Amino acid sequence: MRILIAEDDQVLADGLLRGLRTAGAAVDHVADGCEAEAALLTNTEFDLLILDLGLPRLHGLEVLRRLRARGSALPVLILTAADSVDERVKGLDLGADDYMAKPFALQELEARVRALTRRGMGGACATIKHGPLLYDQTGRVATIDGKLIELSARELGLLEVLLQRAGRLVSKDQLIERLCEWGEEVSNNAIEVYIHRLRKKIEKGPIRIATVRGLGYCLEKISG
Ligand code: CA
Repeated sequence: MRILIAEDDQVLADGLLRGLRTAGAAVDHVADGCEAEAALLTNTEFDLLILDLGLPRLHGLEVLRRLRARGSALPVLILTAADSVDERVKGLDLGADDYMAKPFALQELEARVRALTRRGMGGACATIKHGPLLYDQTGRVATIDGKLIELSARELGLLEVLLQRAGRLVSKDQLIERLCEWGEEVSNNAIEVYIHRLRKKIEKGPIRIATVRGLGYCLEKISG
């Protein structure tokens, strides 16, 4: 899961970054509205935008308005001051999916993030089923035939992306974008290594990750 945080309060941003990374997300941070807009224009692989409305240079509501005007359906959680009912209403009217009024408990924000990203991925259900494989998006736990599969954070991230796009091609570049934060160097070779490890752990019975030479990978559809 890849999340963009647009928040100019550095202390709050640091707390969010720490919490969401611990929960297993790849998180990027910008501190003003123009940077947020630039990030959204250049990167389409985000699963969620956490958007403070009181941002310098470009107001959060304007960032949101432009995003929706471009036709993006990216889930957006807005952060507002406790007393700003008007802004909250405007934000929701402009197409925000949810809001949190400051101050809030990180735990609650994390729960809302999980709910929003599940919805964004086309299912309100917390569990994805792929043949004998069950993936619990809340606990980030995968089992095959009821047996727990031990996966590293990277392998989990990879499995998540492949499951969300089962039956479709996912390019190495897409995997890199989805899994990595800015400034993190992950090469094509590293992706191959992660895929290799993941295959060893999950390719059982009908579960197969196909390599589409030169293009990427595809978690093959299981019929029935
Ligand atoms: Ca602010």
